[in-house]
Amino acid sequence: MEKKDIRYRKVYRDLKPLYLDLDDNLARAKKFYEEEEIHSCCREGCSACCSQLVVATRWEAQEAALFLKSLPDFDRYWQNLGSWYAKTKELLQQRPKKEAEWEEFAGTYRRLEEPCPFLFEARCAIYPVRPAPCRLLYVSGSPEACADPDGEFDQLGWFEEAADPALSILLEKSEAGVFPLLVASALA
Ligand code: SF4
Ligand code: SF4
Repeated sequence: MEKKDIRYRKVYRDLKPLYLDLDDNLARAKKFYEEEEIHSCCREGCSACCSQLVVATRWEAQEAALFLKSLPDFDRYWQNLGSWYAKTKELLQQRPKKEAEWEEFAGTYRRLEEPCPFLFEARCAIYPVRPAPCRLLYVSGSPEACADPDGEFDQLGWFEEAADPALSILLEKSEAGVFPLLVASALA
């Protein structure tokens, strides 16, 4: 398989087809790695990566808020959002204005070891509408590196390339921010 198999731009009016195309590109990237015998350690129920800072778009947060509202245990996630905010707000208030400083800020956030408010029993409660950054994590090595706040991830590089068309469309549609904050604002 060739890398050029990734799809190119279309006009998207809602998220579902965009996510389908993104997932399709990522599936091609996975196949590429499998053919090269480069294996990922990502598994269902493995969730250490869900304590990272997730930066996504307002468009995605609105979709996630609608999905959350439809859940019978919505109250649990609303409460989780409150507890998550209480534990992270001091740090989040210091979030940088310059894009170049976000990587370092993400490292500091990871050291809080605070799980995403939408994680329940090691599963993502909003899995069908999880934002793009949560779709494109695919690492080699060991999950212990993900659980260690100072551990080095080995993200398989072509994943980001395969996600680029979708990411640029998302960023054109709406601004990006800290995902749970944007969801809380969409729910308020
Ligand atoms: S990124 Fe790390 S924690 Fe997340 S599923 Fe993959 S191996 Fe597990
Ligand atoms: S939205 Fe879902 S996949 Fe993403 S960090 Fe939260 S629980 Fe994990």
